[in-house]
Amino acid sequence: MSYEIRLWPDKILKQKMKEVDFFGTDKLKEYINIMFDRMYQLEGVGLAANQIGIPYQIIVLDTSVKEEDGQEQEKEGIKMALINPVIVEKEGEIESTEGCLSFPGVQITIPRAKKVVVKAKDPEGKEIEINAEDFLSVVLQHEIDHINGIPFINHLPPVKRRMVLEKYMKKRKELAKSK
Ligand SMILES: [Zn+2]
Repeated sequence: MSYEIRLWPDKILKQKMKEVDFFGTDKLKEYINIMFDRMYQLEGVGLAANQIGIPYQIIVLDTSVKEEDGQEQEKEGIKMALINPVIVEKEGEIESTEGCLSFPGVQITIPRAKKVVVKAKDPEGKEIEINAEDFLSVVLQHEIDHINGIPFINHLPPVKRRMVLEKYMKKRKELAKSK
């Protein structure tokens, strides 16, 4: 497996991933290592397993380096790998401007919950609960959507979504032709 980044409309991005039941194994550790490597290479703050073709409910994120105005900004961040994560509570609403490694060139503003509570397992199978707000909350919502087969464009109203998709597909075709 090459673990190349999967771009929309790859069908693995539309599917709900399988739950992990192989905690504490080398296989799980390897998947997580590969996911972090790819995420840093691609300069993302989060990555879902299906974005590189791994068909399980795994997400990784690292909010310590966030690009703002083209400048890398170091701040105290959170780095974690979450297995089988589920959002159990949502509160409030914020406008969130997001990009996605699986939709190069697309940036959209969508509503997200301001706060979420997420239940998940760590790589050893221990239960964890995370209370997140603002940026971390948004990253969690974006990545957990991915492992459930929901792309961020689904949070746009249908007409806007169609416009964004048409523009994106046109650009993808042009890029494919120029190669
Ligand atoms: Zn994404």
